[in-house]
Order: sequence, then C-alpha cells, then structure tokens
Amino acid sequence: MKIKDTSGAEHDIECIACAIQSGKVTLLVERIAETEFFVAEQDFEYPIEAFIIVASKRHVKSILGLSEEERADLTSFLFSCRKAMKTQLGIVEVTFVQEEHSSSSHFHVWLFPWLPWMDEEGYKRKVSEITTVMKMAKDRPMTEESSLILRESAQKLKSEIAKDLKDATKRSS
Ligand SMILES: [Zn+2]
Repeated sequence: MKIKDTSGAEHDIECIACAIQSGKVTLLVERIAETEFFVAEQDFEYPIEAFIIVASKRHVKSILGLSEEERADLTSFLFSCRKAMKTQLGIVEVTFVQEEHSSSSHFHVWLFPWLPWMDEEGYKRKVSEITTVMKMAKDRPMTEESSLILRESAQKLKSEIAKDLKDATKRSS
C-alpha cells in the first residue's frame, strides 16, 4: 500500500509499523519513546501536535495477541505518554482509540489530543469528530512553523517520557 507522510513523501510498504520501526520510512518527527515491547511515535500522516500512536513491536493485530508482560508494559507506557501530554503540553483531554480492523499495521492505540485550535473551531471533543479534525489538519498546508511545532512538542514529550521510564526502572530494580 502507498502512504504519504507528514513531509509529503510517498512510500510503498506492506506493514506500516514494520516500515516505521525498522527505519525504512524516515519520519519528519523522530521517535518519541520506546519500551521493550512498544514504541510511541508522532502520527506520521496527520500533522497534529502530540497526536501519538503507541504500537507494539511485535507483528500482532489485537490486544488478544499480547503476552501478560506486554499488557503490563502497555498500561504503564500509555500512562507515561498521557501524563507527559498533560504536564508538558497542558493537554486537558485525550481520546484513546484502538482499532483492530487494520490490514497493514500492528496493535496500536491512538492518543488523540484535544487542542485549543480544535476548541476554537467549535469541536466538542467527541470521538465522532476525530476523523473530521484529522482531515482538516491534513488539508492545511504544512509550513516551516507547523513542522517546527510538531517537532518541538514531540521533543518535550520525549524528554519527559524518558525521565518517567527511567524512574519506573529504578523503582522496579
Ligand atoms: Zn509489521
């Protein structure tokens, strides 16, 4: 399948997650965080700051395919990502989406942030509005400034989540 990333580059790939995680597809925004079993990336298609995708490293589709250890890791990783969205970027509400119907990726969770510009556009932070907001973000021309916002927000999340994961490792050892 063909995908177009936030920089406008097109890629022909079989599995989005495998392509991204192996570095075959270089993204505009570098990886935000990773654990032993999961990665957190800025969404590669939609230029919405702090729109994070948490995906499994293993090529499985559903939460039903995750081991007990992976499930525990997933919960604490999602918590760290969500917490950083709040403390670093002041994001008040997030919608989590997990879609099993996906022919070309791994188990993944969307952490969709409700941002001030979405409130200004009149959105009510409903799950039914998400695809409309995504389309709107994609249709806006990508500028130097918007790409900088994406990278800077990712950078803030990155350092905070790294700190959180390090603290967690310290606590468990
Ligand atoms: Zn894969």
